Amino acid sequence: MRNREGAATATPIQTMPSLPAYMNYPLDDVPAPGETLPIADGVRWLRMPLPFMLGHINLWLLDDGDRTTLVDTGLNSRETQDHWRRLLEDHEVSRIVVTHMHPDHVGSAGWLHEHYGAPLYMTRAEYLMCRVLVADTGQPAPRAGVEFYRAAGFDEAALQRYQERFGGFGKAVYDLPQAYHRLQEGDVMTIGARDWRIVTTSGHCPEHASLYCERDGLFIAGDQVLPTISSNVSVWPTEPDADPLGFWLDSCRHLQDELDDDVLVLPSHGKPFRGAMGRLQALIDEHEDNLDALITLCAEPRRAIDTFEALFQSRITDGNLIMATGEAVAHLNHLVQRDRLTRETDDAGVHWYRTAQG
Ligand SMILES: [Zn+2]
Repeated sequence: MRNREGAATATPIQTMPSLPAYMNYPLDDVPAPGETLPIADGVRWLRMPLPFMLGHINLWLLDDGDRTTLVDTGLNSRETQDHWRRLLEDHEVSRIVVTHMHPDHVGSAGWLHEHYGAPLYMTRAEYLMCRVLVADTGQPAPRAGVEFYRAAGFDEAALQRYQERFGGFGKAVYDLPQAYHRLQEGDVMTIGARDWRIVTTSGHCPEHASLYCERDGLFIAGDQVLPTISSNVSVWPTEPDADPLGFWLDSCRHLQDELDDDVLVLPSHGKPFRGAMGRLQALIDEHEDNLDALITLCAEPRRAIDTFEALFQSRITDGNLIMATGEAVAHLNHLVQRDRLTRETDDAGVHWYRTAQG
């Protein structure tokens, strides 16, 4: 999307020239992959490598008495697990907390559980959805998937490629433990000397968990608020009429209500920053601008794939077509929900969107 970059979105990396005035990065240093940097008493910032676009994910190590609670785990990869082995050589792990089910966050959770015996903490929707997606690995693409992308305007070649690539999710995720501990909105986890309140949000994934220590002004944001990129908000074939963008916008407003403006945001990608309120507003505004652009565009009937130019700065290629389509449908579904667009399906099963009259 506009001014977006990175693995979480359909758009390639674009470096922001500078942060807007309402934001700042209080820390100059960034840990090298596999290294940690203290952020606050008992909180360490750990970076793990990612083989795609952004190149890194931020994880957090929280002192928990003489043990350590981990927040997010990195991909299921040899490189990540080698880093963990070294980092945890003299540590006992008390808990493995996972913000959400995307492979860069949950990928090594099962491996860590198996090797260090610590229990897994996730929200229910993330845990269950992750198990469902892992179970798809090695299966043929479902008919619902082919119908969904045909409806979006894919040609036969693109549908063929979708089917060939289906089921890759599980390769980046180590099998989850068979049991987990459920996180819910408002839960308080006491970790070492701090109380962390769970704040759940939706849109980027079904039930994302962030951790908020109000007393010390620390917010472990996961992918819910990132400093320079907008998290991917997509519709998937499993629930073709979903309105994740509606949930995403509500979630941004929920966080505006919950957080203090001077909170230090610890995001999963990029650097810790201050200026949460302004950043949340910019995320909302960016999506609202995109929605306005689609209302104008759909004066003539359009398919999802016809909206890319209005939504994305960069060209959509084979490699990011699925992501881009998911984001486009998220915007279109939201406008249908708001009665700003109508949707008609032609004889070939393709959805056409048109600006609603009156
Ligand atoms: Zn994510």
